[in-house]
Amino acid sequence: MAPGIDPWTPRLLTNNKVPPEMLSIASIMASPSVHAIEPSQLLHYLPTYRVLICLRCNYAIQPGAVARHLKEIHHLHHLSRRPFVDYASGFKLSQPSDVVLPDGTQFPVPLLPVQNGLACSFAGCAHLCVTAKRMKQHWMSVHHISSSDLGGFWDPVPLQTFFRGNALRYFTNPALLISSSSDKSGGLTNTTSTTPVSSDNRESSPYQTLITSDAGLLDHYRNYTYKTLSCGPETDDVFRIIVPQLAHQFPFLLHGILSCSSLHLASIDPQNRPYYTIRSIQHADQAAPAFRWATINVDSNNSQAVLAFAFFLVVYALGSESNDQPLFLSKDNSQEDAPSLEWIEILRNGCSMLCPVWTELTTSPLAPFTALWRDDLGVPTNPNDPLLITLLSIIPEYRSELTGYYIYRDSAVKLAQAFAFIERCGSPPTIWDVLNSWPMRVSPEYLALLKHNDPGALLLLAHYAILLQPLREEWFLKGRAMELIDEIAQRLKGNCSPQIWEVFSVMQREHFPSDPI
Ligand SMILES: [Zn+2]
Ligand SMILES: [Zn+2]
Repeated sequence: MAPGIDPWTPRLLTNNKVPPEMLSIASIMASPSVHAIEPSQLLHYLPTYRVLICLRCNYAIQPGAVARHLKEIHHLHHLSRRPFVDYASGFKLSQPSDVVLPDGTQFPVPLLPVQNGLACSFAGCAHLCVTAKRMKQHWMSVHHISSSDLGGFWDPVPLQTFFRGNALRYFTNPALLISSSSDKSGGLTNTTSTTPVSSDNRESSPYQTLITSDAGLLDHYRNYTYKTLSCGPETDDVFRIIVPQLAHQFPFLLHGILSCSSLHLASIDPQNRPYYTIRSIQHADQAAPAFRWATINVDSNNSQAVLAFAFFLVVYALGSESNDQPLFLSKDNSQEDAPSLEWIEILRNGCSMLCPVWTELTTSPLAPFTALWRDDLGVPTNPNDPLLITLLSIIPEYRSELTGYYIYRDSAVKLAQAFAFIERCGSPPTIWDVLNSWPMRVSPEYLALLKHNDPGALLLLAHYAILLQPLREEWFLKGRAMELIDEIAQRLKGNCSPQIWEVFSVMQREHFPSDPI
Protein backbone atom coordinates (compact mmCIF):
# COMPACT_ATOMS: atom_id res chain seq x y z
CA MET A 1 0.00 0.00 0.00
CA ALA A 2 1.36 3.42 -0.82
CA PRO A 3 2.10 5.45 2.31
CA GLY A 4 -0.42 8.08 3.21
CA ILE A 5 -3.22 6.60 1.19
CA ASP A 6 -6.25 5.81 3.21
CA PRO A 7 -7.73 2.68 1.72
CA TRP A 8 -11.14 3.45 3.18
CA THR A 9 -11.53 6.63 1.23
CA PRO A 10 -12.76 6.12 -2.29
CA ARG A 11 -9.95 7.20 -4.55
CA LEU A 12 -10.46 9.42 -7.49
CA LEU A 13 -8.07 7.96 -9.95
CA THR A 14 -6.13 10.04 -12.38
CA ASN A 15 -7.51 8.54 -15.56
CA ASN A 16 -11.12 9.37 -14.93
CA LYS A 17 -12.87 9.94 -18.20
CA VAL A 18 -15.68 11.79 -16.49
CA PRO A 19 -14.88 14.72 -14.23
CA PRO A 20 -15.12 13.55 -10.61
CA GLU A 21 -17.86 15.98 -9.73
CA MET A 22 -19.94 14.33 -12.40
CA LEU A 23 -19.26 10.78 -11.30
CA SER A 24 -22.49 10.75 -9.47
CA ILE A 25 -25.30 13.15 -9.12
CA ALA A 26 -25.42 12.36 -5.48
CA SER A 27 -23.38 15.24 -4.17
CA ILE A 28 -26.03 17.62 -5.35
CA MET A 29 -28.99 15.86 -3.91
CA ALA A 30 -29.89 15.77 -0.31
CA SER A 31 -33.08 13.98 0.44
CA PRO A 32 -32.74 12.42 3.86
CA SER A 33 -35.97 10.46 3.67
CA VAL A 34 -35.71 6.74 3.19
CA HIS A 35 -38.24 5.90 0.57
CA ALA A 36 -39.57 2.48 1.26
CA ILE A 37 -42.31 0.78 -0.64
CA GLU A 38 -45.76 1.77 0.49
CA PRO A 39 -48.27 -1.04 1.06
CA SER A 40 -50.32 0.24 -1.88
CA GLN A 41 -47.30 -0.31 -4.13
CA LEU A 42 -47.10 -3.98 -3.30
CA LEU A 43 -50.73 -4.89 -2.71
CA HIS A 44 -53.49 -3.96 -5.13
CA TYR A 45 -57.15 -4.55 -4.32
CA LEU A 46 -59.51 -5.57 -7.11
CA PRO A 47 -62.97 -4.69 -5.75
CA THR A 48 -64.83 -6.58 -8.50
CA TYR A 49 -63.39 -9.87 -7.28
CA ARG A 50 -62.58 -8.90 -3.70
CA VAL A 51 -59.02 -10.12 -4.00
CA LEU A 52 -55.71 -8.58 -3.05
CA ILE A 53 -53.06 -8.99 -5.73
CA CYS A 54 -49.37 -8.97 -4.85
CA LEU A 55 -47.88 -6.79 -7.56
CA ARG A 56 -44.52 -8.54 -7.27
CA CYS A 57 -45.90 -12.05 -7.53
CA ASN A 58 -48.83 -11.28 -9.84
CA TYR A 59 -51.29 -13.44 -8.00
CA ALA A 60 -53.82 -12.98 -5.21
CA ILE A 61 -52.96 -13.61 -1.58
CA GLN A 62 -55.47 -15.68 0.37
CA PRO A 63 -57.36 -13.87 3.14
CA GLY A 64 -55.45 -14.28 6.36
CA ALA A 65 -52.23 -15.24 4.59
CA VAL A 66 -50.83 -11.74 4.00
CA ALA A 67 -48.34 -11.83 6.87
CA ARG A 68 -47.09 -15.26 5.88
CA HIS A 69 -46.77 -14.20 2.24
CA LEU A 70 -44.70 -11.16 3.20
CA LYS A 71 -42.50 -13.24 5.46
CA GLU A 72 -41.95 -16.31 3.31
CA ILE A 73 -41.97 -14.84 -0.17
CA HIS A 74 -40.65 -11.32 0.39
CA HIS A 75 -38.60 -11.96 3.53
CA LEU A 76 -40.02 -8.98 5.36
CA HIS A 77 -39.18 -8.74 9.02
CA HIS A 78 -41.93 -8.66 11.60
CA LEU A 79 -41.95 -4.89 12.10
CA SER A 80 -41.82 -4.10 8.40
CA ARG A 81 -44.79 -6.37 7.77
CA ARG A 82 -47.05 -4.43 10.12
CA PRO A 83 -48.09 -1.59 7.76
CA PHE A 84 -48.80 -4.08 4.96
CA VAL A 85 -50.95 -6.27 7.18
CA ASP A 86 -52.81 -3.20 8.47
CA TYR A 87 -53.36 -2.00 4.93
CA ALA A 88 -54.65 -5.42 3.82
CA SER A 89 -57.03 -5.61 6.76
CA GLY A 90 -58.88 -2.60 5.35
CA PHE A 91 -60.27 -4.65 2.45
CA LYS A 92 -63.09 -7.12 2.36
CA LEU A 93 -61.61 -10.28 0.83
CA SER A 94 -63.41 -13.30 -0.60
CA GLN A 95 -62.36 -16.83 0.19
CA PRO A 96 -60.79 -18.42 -2.92
CA SER A 97 -63.82 -20.65 -3.50
CA ASP A 98 -66.17 -17.64 -3.35
CA VAL A 99 -64.42 -15.40 -5.84
CA VAL A 100 -66.79 -14.59 -8.71
CA LEU A 101 -64.99 -15.27 -11.97
CA PRO A 102 -64.87 -12.65 -14.74
CA ASP A 103 -67.44 -12.62 -17.50
CA GLY A 104 -66.68 -12.31 -21.20
CA THR A 105 -66.22 -8.56 -21.00
CA GLN A 106 -63.93 -8.71 -17.98
CA PHE A 107 -61.45 -11.32 -19.14
CA PRO A 108 -58.51 -11.06 -18.82
CA VAL A 109 -58.28 -9.76 -15.28
CA PRO A 110 -55.64 -7.02 -15.15
CA LEU A 111 -52.42 -7.70 -13.25
CA LEU A 112 -52.72 -11.47 -13.57
CA PRO A 113 -50.56 -13.22 -16.15
CA VAL A 114 -52.27 -15.04 -19.02
CA GLN A 115 -51.12 -18.59 -19.68
CA ASN A 116 -51.60 -20.78 -22.71
CA GLY A 117 -53.94 -23.49 -21.55
CA LEU A 118 -56.34 -26.20 -22.67
CA ALA A 119 -60.09 -26.63 -22.27
CA CYS A 120 -61.66 -30.08 -22.34
CA SER A 121 -64.04 -30.27 -25.31
CA PHE A 122 -66.17 -33.09 -23.92
CA ALA A 123 -69.72 -31.76 -23.93
CA GLY A 124 -70.57 -30.12 -20.65
CA CYS A 125 -67.15 -30.53 -19.11
CA ALA A 126 -64.96 -27.46 -19.76
CA HIS A 127 -62.19 -28.75 -17.51
CA LEU A 128 -59.19 -26.42 -17.75
CA CYS A 129 -55.53 -27.24 -17.33
CA VAL A 130 -52.16 -26.20 -18.72
CA THR A 131 -50.56 -29.34 -20.15
CA ALA A 132 -51.63 -32.06 -22.58
CA LYS A 133 -50.37 -34.63 -20.07
CA ARG A 134 -52.78 -33.38 -17.42
CA MET A 135 -55.60 -33.29 -19.96
CA LYS A 136 -54.98 -36.92 -20.90
CA GLN A 137 -55.09 -37.86 -17.22
CA HIS A 138 -58.38 -35.95 -16.98
CA TRP A 139 -59.85 -37.88 -19.94
CA MET A 140 -58.77 -41.18 -18.42
CA SER A 141 -60.14 -40.52 -14.95
CA VAL A 142 -63.30 -38.52 -15.75
CA HIS A 143 -64.39 -39.56 -19.23
CA HIS A 144 -62.78 -43.03 -19.11
CA ILE A 145 -61.16 -42.66 -22.50
CA SER A 146 -57.55 -43.78 -22.73
CA SER A 147 -54.94 -41.56 -24.26
CA SER A 148 -54.47 -43.95 -27.20
CA ASP A 149 -58.01 -43.14 -28.34
CA LEU A 150 -57.49 -39.45 -27.97
CA GLY A 151 -57.09 -37.07 -30.79
CA GLY A 152 -57.50 -33.40 -30.03
CA PHE A 153 -60.39 -33.59 -27.60
CA TRP A 154 -59.42 -30.29 -26.19
CA ASP A 155 -58.96 -26.74 -27.39
CA PRO A 156 -56.32 -24.16 -26.66
CA VAL A 157 -57.59 -21.33 -24.47
CA PRO A 158 -55.98 -18.50 -22.52
CA LEU A 159 -56.02 -19.14 -18.78
CA GLN A 160 -55.66 -17.09 -15.64
CA THR A 161 -55.84 -17.92 -11.97
CA PHE A 162 -56.28 -15.63 -8.99
CA PHE A 163 -54.47 -17.90 -6.56
CA ARG A 164 -51.58 -20.32 -6.57
CA GLY A 165 -50.93 -23.39 -4.49
CA ASN A 166 -53.87 -25.28 -3.02
CA ALA A 167 -56.36 -22.60 -4.11
CA LEU A 168 -55.26 -22.61 -7.74
CA ARG A 169 -58.29 -22.56 -10.00
CA TYR A 170 -57.98 -21.73 -13.68
CA PHE A 171 -60.55 -19.74 -15.55
CA THR A 172 -60.77 -18.56 -19.14
CA ASN A 173 -62.81 -16.12 -21.12
CA PRO A 174 -66.33 -17.60 -20.90
CA ALA A 175 -67.01 -16.13 -24.36
CA LEU A 176 -64.64 -18.79 -25.70
CA LEU A 177 -66.89 -21.48 -24.29
CA ILE A 178 -70.46 -21.95 -25.53
CA SER A 179 -73.34 -23.54 -23.71
CA SER A 180 -74.26 -27.06 -24.52
CA SER A 181 -76.92 -29.41 -23.31
CA SER A 182 -76.23 -30.42 -19.76
CA ASP A 183 -77.94 -33.74 -20.43
CA LYS A 184 -74.82 -34.95 -22.13
CA SER A 185 -72.76 -34.45 -19.06
CA GLY A 186 -74.09 -37.67 -17.59
CA GLY A 187 -72.77 -38.25 -14.14
CA LEU A 188 -70.32 -35.41 -14.35
CA THR A 189 -70.39 -32.66 -11.82
CA ASN A 190 -72.59 -29.78 -12.87
CA THR A 191 -69.77 -27.25 -12.87
CA THR A 192 -69.94 -25.23 -16.06
CA SER A 193 -72.25 -26.54 -18.73
CA THR A 194 -70.17 -25.30 -21.54
CA THR A 195 -67.93 -26.52 -24.25
CA PRO A 196 -65.34 -24.62 -26.23
CA VAL A 197 -66.36 -23.02 -29.46
CA SER A 198 -64.68 -24.16 -32.64
CA SER A 199 -61.00 -23.43 -32.76
CA ASP A 200 -61.41 -20.89 -35.58
CA ASN A 201 -62.19 -18.23 -33.02
CA ARG A 202 -59.25 -19.14 -30.89
CA GLU A 203 -56.73 -17.04 -32.78
CA SER A 204 -57.89 -13.93 -31.01
CA SER A 205 -55.88 -12.42 -28.20
CA PRO A 206 -56.86 -13.30 -24.66
CA TYR A 207 -56.88 -9.57 -24.17
CA GLN A 208 -60.14 -8.22 -25.48
CA THR A 209 -58.40 -6.43 -28.25
CA LEU A 210 -54.83 -6.36 -29.33
CA ILE A 211 -53.58 -2.89 -28.55
CA THR A 212 -52.41 -1.56 -31.87
CA SER A 213 -52.59 2.20 -31.40
CA ASP A 214 -50.18 4.46 -29.58
CA ALA A 215 -53.14 5.89 -27.66
CA GLY A 216 -53.99 2.39 -26.46
CA LEU A 217 -50.42 1.79 -25.33
CA LEU A 218 -50.44 5.09 -23.48
CA ASP A 219 -53.69 4.10 -21.77
CA HIS A 220 -52.18 0.80 -20.70
CA TYR A 221 -49.22 2.70 -19.28
CA ARG A 222 -51.47 5.13 -17.38
CA ASN A 223 -53.63 2.32 -16.03
CA TYR A 224 -51.11 -0.40 -15.23
CA THR A 225 -47.47 -0.03 -16.22
CA TYR A 226 -46.82 3.16 -14.28
CA LYS A 227 -47.70 1.36 -11.08
CA THR A 228 -45.00 -1.24 -11.61
CA LEU A 229 -42.38 1.50 -11.90
CA SER A 230 -43.53 3.85 -9.19
CA CYS A 231 -42.30 3.35 -5.67
CA GLY A 232 -44.75 5.20 -3.50
CA PRO A 233 -47.48 7.81 -3.43
CA GLU A 234 -44.88 10.53 -3.96
CA THR A 235 -43.91 9.19 -7.37
CA ASP A 236 -47.32 7.80 -8.42
CA ASP A 237 -48.63 11.06 -9.80
CA VAL A 238 -45.33 11.93 -11.44
CA PHE A 239 -45.29 8.63 -13.34
CA ARG A 240 -48.99 8.62 -14.12
CA ILE A 241 -49.82 12.26 -14.84
CA ILE A 242 -46.81 14.55 -15.10
CA VAL A 243 -44.61 12.36 -17.27
CA PRO A 244 -47.30 11.71 -19.93
CA GLN A 245 -48.01 15.46 -20.00
CA LEU A 246 -44.34 16.16 -20.53
CA ALA A 247 -44.30 13.57 -23.30
CA HIS A 248 -46.58 15.77 -25.41
CA GLN A 249 -43.70 18.19 -25.80
CA PHE A 250 -40.90 15.63 -26.08
CA PRO A 251 -41.51 12.84 -28.58
CA PHE A 252 -38.50 10.85 -27.31
CA LEU A 253 -40.16 10.63 -23.90
CA LEU A 254 -43.43 9.51 -25.47
CA HIS A 255 -41.59 6.78 -27.38
CA GLY A 256 -39.88 5.76 -24.13
CA ILE A 257 -43.25 5.38 -22.39
CA LEU A 258 -44.79 3.47 -25.30
CA SER A 259 -41.78 1.21 -25.52
CA CYS A 260 -42.14 0.23 -21.86
CA SER A 261 -45.88 -0.15 -22.12
CA SER A 262 -45.39 -2.56 -25.06
CA LEU A 263 -42.73 -4.47 -23.18
CA HIS A 264 -45.03 -4.77 -20.18
CA LEU A 265 -47.82 -6.09 -22.43
CA ALA A 266 -45.38 -8.57 -23.97
CA SER A 267 -44.69 -9.94 -20.50
CA ILE A 268 -48.34 -10.43 -19.55
CA ASP A 269 -49.87 -11.42 -22.89
CA PRO A 270 -47.82 -14.38 -24.16
CA GLN A 271 -50.01 -14.94 -27.21
CA ASN A 272 -49.10 -11.53 -28.54
CA ARG A 273 -45.56 -11.38 -27.19
CA PRO A 274 -43.87 -11.23 -30.62
CA TYR A 275 -46.09 -8.35 -31.70
CA TYR A 276 -45.61 -6.31 -28.53
CA THR A 277 -41.89 -7.02 -28.46
CA ILE A 278 -41.48 -5.61 -31.95
CA ARG A 279 -43.55 -2.56 -31.07
CA SER A 280 -41.37 -2.03 -28.05
CA ILE A 281 -38.16 -2.18 -30.08
CA GLN A 282 -39.60 0.19 -32.69
CA HIS A 283 -40.46 2.79 -30.07
CA ALA A 284 -37.09 2.41 -28.35
CA ASP A 285 -35.33 2.92 -31.69
CA GLN A 286 -37.40 6.03 -32.38
CA ALA A 287 -36.55 7.46 -28.97
CA ALA A 288 -32.80 6.88 -29.03
CA PRO A 289 -31.41 9.58 -31.37
CA ALA A 290 -33.45 12.43 -29.90
CA PHE A 291 -32.63 11.35 -26.36
CA ARG A 292 -28.90 11.22 -27.16
CA TRP A 293 -29.13 14.68 -28.66
CA ALA A 294 -30.98 15.95 -25.61
CA THR A 295 -28.41 14.58 -23.17
CA ILE A 296 -25.64 16.57 -24.81
CA ASN A 297 -27.81 19.69 -24.98
CA VAL A 298 -29.39 19.66 -21.56
CA ASP A 299 -30.98 22.91 -20.47
CA SER A 300 -33.84 24.08 -18.27
CA ASN A 301 -36.25 23.35 -21.08
CA ASN A 302 -35.57 19.65 -21.64
CA SER A 303 -34.03 18.58 -18.33
CA GLN A 304 -37.25 17.15 -16.89
CA ALA A 305 -37.84 15.05 -19.98
CA VAL A 306 -34.26 13.74 -19.87
CA LEU A 307 -34.61 12.81 -16.20
CA ALA A 308 -37.94 11.08 -16.82
CA PHE A 309 -36.63 9.19 -19.82
CA ALA A 310 -33.86 7.63 -17.71
CA PHE A 311 -36.47 5.48 -15.93
CA PHE A 312 -37.86 4.07 -19.16
CA LEU A 313 -34.38 3.49 -20.47
CA VAL A 314 -33.57 1.33 -17.46
CA VAL A 315 -36.77 -0.70 -17.65
CA TYR A 316 -36.27 -1.26 -21.35
CA ALA A 317 -32.65 -2.29 -20.88
CA LEU A 318 -33.59 -4.72 -18.12
CA GLY A 319 -36.76 -6.14 -19.59
CA SER A 320 -36.11 -6.29 -23.30
CA GLU A 321 -35.85 -9.84 -24.57
CA SER A 322 -34.03 -8.56 -27.58
CA ASN A 323 -31.23 -7.86 -25.18
CA ASP A 324 -29.55 -11.24 -25.07
CA GLN A 325 -26.66 -9.94 -23.02
CA PRO A 326 -26.46 -10.77 -19.35
CA LEU A 327 -27.07 -7.72 -17.18
CA PHE A 328 -23.99 -5.54 -16.82
CA LEU A 329 -21.88 -7.93 -18.88
CA SER A 330 -20.90 -7.89 -22.49
CA LYS A 331 -20.88 -10.99 -24.61
CA ASP A 332 -17.70 -10.08 -26.38
CA ASN A 333 -15.24 -8.66 -23.91
CA SER A 334 -12.61 -8.02 -26.57
CA GLN A 335 -14.38 -4.88 -27.66
CA GLU A 336 -13.27 -1.81 -25.82
CA ASP A 337 -16.72 -0.28 -25.99
CA ALA A 338 -18.81 -3.34 -25.48
CA PRO A 339 -22.46 -2.46 -25.96
CA SER A 340 -24.00 -4.24 -22.99
CA LEU A 341 -22.86 -1.66 -20.49
CA GLU A 342 -24.19 1.06 -22.70
CA TRP A 343 -27.42 1.58 -20.80
CA ILE A 344 -25.75 1.90 -17.44
CA GLU A 345 -23.26 4.33 -18.94
CA ILE A 346 -26.00 6.32 -20.63
CA LEU A 347 -27.76 6.46 -17.29
CA ARG A 348 -24.61 7.55 -15.46
CA ASN A 349 -23.64 10.05 -18.12
CA GLY A 350 -27.18 11.30 -18.54
CA CYS A 351 -27.36 11.98 -14.85
CA SER A 352 -23.99 13.73 -14.95
CA MET A 353 -25.23 15.94 -17.74
CA LEU A 354 -28.10 17.00 -15.54
CA CYS A 355 -25.69 18.33 -12.91
CA PRO A 356 -25.96 21.97 -13.98
CA VAL A 357 -29.75 21.93 -13.76
CA TRP A 358 -30.09 19.58 -10.80
CA THR A 359 -31.04 22.24 -8.27
CA GLU A 360 -33.75 23.43 -10.63
CA LEU A 361 -35.04 19.87 -10.96
CA THR A 362 -35.32 19.45 -7.20
CA THR A 363 -37.97 22.15 -7.15
CA SER A 364 -39.69 21.05 -10.37
CA PRO A 365 -42.74 18.77 -10.61
CA LEU A 366 -40.22 15.97 -11.02
CA ALA A 367 -38.66 16.57 -7.60
CA PRO A 368 -39.78 13.14 -6.34
CA PHE A 369 -37.65 11.60 -9.09
CA THR A 370 -34.54 13.49 -8.04
CA ALA A 371 -34.90 12.06 -4.54
CA LEU A 372 -34.55 8.55 -5.96
CA TRP A 373 -31.05 9.29 -7.26
CA ARG A 374 -29.69 10.90 -4.14
CA ASP A 375 -25.99 10.67 -3.49
CA ASP A 376 -25.63 10.17 0.20
CA LEU A 377 -26.93 6.77 1.19
CA GLY A 378 -26.42 7.85 4.78
CA VAL A 379 -24.76 4.63 5.83
CA PRO A 380 -21.28 4.72 7.35
CA THR A 381 -18.71 2.13 6.37
CA ASN A 382 -18.47 -0.59 8.98
CA PRO A 383 -14.99 -2.14 8.82
CA ASN A 384 -16.30 -5.18 10.73
CA ASP A 385 -19.05 -5.85 8.20
CA PRO A 386 -18.75 -9.61 7.52
CA LEU A 387 -19.50 -9.12 3.84
CA LEU A 388 -16.78 -6.52 3.51
CA ILE A 389 -14.29 -8.74 5.36
CA THR A 390 -15.11 -11.60 3.00
CA LEU A 391 -14.77 -9.43 -0.08
CA LEU A 392 -11.48 -7.94 1.12
CA SER A 393 -10.09 -11.37 1.96
CA ILE A 394 -9.31 -11.94 -1.69
CA ILE A 395 -7.35 -8.70 -1.89
CA PRO A 396 -3.90 -10.35 -1.92
CA GLU A 397 -4.77 -11.03 -5.53
CA TYR A 398 -4.22 -7.39 -6.21
CA ARG A 399 -0.96 -6.88 -4.31
CA SER A 400 1.11 -6.68 -7.43
CA GLU A 401 -1.05 -4.10 -9.07
CA LEU A 402 -1.83 -1.03 -7.05
CA THR A 403 -4.41 0.55 -9.32
CA GLY A 404 -6.57 -2.56 -9.46
CA TYR A 405 -6.25 -2.85 -5.69
CA TYR A 406 -7.83 0.54 -5.06
CA ILE A 407 -10.52 0.11 -7.65
CA TYR A 408 -11.51 -3.22 -6.16
CA ARG A 409 -11.37 -1.98 -2.59
CA ASP A 410 -13.38 1.14 -3.36
CA SER A 411 -16.06 -0.88 -5.15
CA ALA A 412 -16.19 -3.46 -2.34
CA VAL A 413 -16.65 -0.74 0.29
CA LYS A 414 -19.42 0.79 -1.78
CA LEU A 415 -21.06 -2.60 -2.16
CA ALA A 416 -21.05 -3.17 1.60
CA GLN A 417 -22.64 0.28 1.98
CA ALA A 418 -25.28 -0.66 -0.59
CA PHE A 419 -26.18 -3.77 1.42
CA ALA A 420 -26.41 -1.73 4.62
CA PHE A 421 -28.59 0.84 2.85
CA ILE A 422 -30.99 -1.71 1.37
CA GLU A 423 -31.25 -3.52 4.70
CA ARG A 424 -32.02 -0.27 6.47
CA CYS A 425 -34.89 0.39 4.02
CA GLY A 426 -36.66 -2.55 5.65
CA SER A 427 -39.32 -2.97 3.00
CA PRO A 428 -38.63 -4.65 -0.31
CA PRO A 429 -36.28 -2.34 -2.18
CA THR A 430 -37.27 -0.75 -5.45
CA ILE A 431 -35.25 -1.22 -8.60
CA TRP A 432 -34.26 2.45 -8.30
CA ASP A 433 -32.83 1.88 -4.81
CA VAL A 434 -30.91 -1.11 -6.03
CA LEU A 435 -29.45 0.70 -9.04
CA ASN A 436 -28.69 3.90 -7.21
CA SER A 437 -27.04 2.07 -4.33
CA TRP A 438 -24.16 0.66 -6.35
CA PRO A 439 -23.95 0.63 -10.19
CA MET A 440 -24.44 4.40 -10.23
CA ARG A 441 -21.72 4.86 -7.63
CA VAL A 442 -18.82 2.64 -8.69
CA SER A 443 -15.97 4.28 -10.53
CA PRO A 444 -15.61 4.15 -14.31
CA GLU A 445 -12.40 2.19 -13.64
CA TYR A 446 -14.42 -0.55 -12.00
CA LEU A 447 -16.66 -0.79 -15.07
CA ALA A 448 -13.51 -1.01 -17.19
CA LEU A 449 -12.23 -3.93 -15.07
CA LEU A 450 -15.61 -5.58 -15.48
CA LYS A 451 -15.45 -5.23 -19.24
CA HIS A 452 -12.18 -7.10 -19.18
CA ASN A 453 -13.59 -9.90 -17.02
CA ASP A 454 -11.36 -9.06 -14.07
CA PRO A 455 -12.15 -11.89 -11.57
CA GLY A 456 -12.43 -9.52 -8.58
CA ALA A 457 -14.79 -7.23 -10.50
CA LEU A 458 -16.91 -10.25 -11.47
CA LEU A 459 -16.97 -11.43 -7.86
CA LEU A 460 -18.33 -8.06 -6.71
CA LEU A 461 -20.99 -8.07 -9.42
CA ALA A 462 -22.04 -11.56 -8.34
CA HIS A 463 -22.55 -10.33 -4.80
CA TYR A 464 -24.44 -7.32 -6.08
CA ALA A 465 -26.87 -9.73 -7.77
CA ILE A 466 -28.03 -10.72 -4.26
CA LEU A 467 -29.62 -7.27 -4.02
CA LEU A 468 -31.54 -7.95 -7.23
CA GLN A 469 -33.01 -11.17 -5.86
CA PRO A 470 -35.94 -9.60 -3.95
CA LEU A 471 -36.97 -8.07 -7.28
CA ARG A 472 -36.78 -11.29 -9.24
CA GLU A 473 -40.55 -11.43 -9.76
CA GLU A 474 -40.74 -7.95 -11.29
CA TRP A 475 -41.87 -8.34 -14.88
CA PHE A 476 -38.79 -6.57 -16.20
CA LEU A 477 -36.33 -8.59 -14.14
CA LYS A 478 -37.61 -12.15 -14.33
CA GLY A 479 -34.73 -14.63 -14.49
CA ARG A 480 -32.12 -11.92 -15.00
CA ALA A 481 -30.22 -12.26 -11.72
CA MET A 482 -29.91 -16.03 -12.02
CA GLU A 483 -28.79 -15.66 -15.62
CA LEU A 484 -26.14 -13.18 -14.50
CA ILE A 485 -24.82 -15.57 -11.85
CA ASP A 486 -24.61 -18.42 -14.37
CA GLU A 487 -22.67 -16.21 -16.75
CA ILE A 488 -20.27 -15.05 -14.01
CA ALA A 489 -19.73 -18.67 -12.95
CA GLN A 490 -18.75 -19.55 -16.51
CA ARG A 491 -16.35 -16.65 -16.78
CA LEU A 492 -14.72 -17.27 -13.40
CA LYS A 493 -14.34 -21.00 -13.74
CA GLY A 494 -10.69 -21.81 -14.39
CA ASN A 495 -9.87 -18.11 -14.75
CA CYS A 496 -9.57 -17.05 -11.11
CA SER A 497 -7.72 -17.93 -7.94
CA PRO A 498 -9.01 -20.73 -5.69
CA GLN A 499 -9.87 -18.08 -3.05
CA ILE A 500 -12.09 -16.13 -5.43
CA TRP A 501 -13.75 -19.33 -6.64
CA GLU A 502 -14.39 -20.39 -3.05
CA VAL A 503 -15.98 -17.04 -2.08
CA PHE A 504 -18.08 -17.12 -5.24
CA SER A 505 -19.21 -20.72 -4.73
CA VAL A 506 -20.24 -20.14 -1.12
CA MET A 507 -22.28 -17.11 -2.21
CA GLN A 508 -23.85 -19.00 -5.12
CA ARG A 509 -24.87 -21.97 -2.95
CA GLU A 510 -26.44 -19.70 -0.37
CA HIS A 511 -28.26 -17.20 -2.56
CA PHE A 512 -28.66 -18.82 -5.98
CA PRO A 513 -29.20 -22.55 -5.42
CA SER A 514 -29.72 -24.25 -8.77
CA ASP A 515 -32.76 -26.11 -7.47
CA PRO A 516 -34.82 -23.64 -5.49
CA ILE A 517 -37.43 -25.41 -3.39
ZN1 LIG B 1 -45.77 -11.35 -3.33
ZN1 LIG C 1 -63.54 -33.19 -19.54
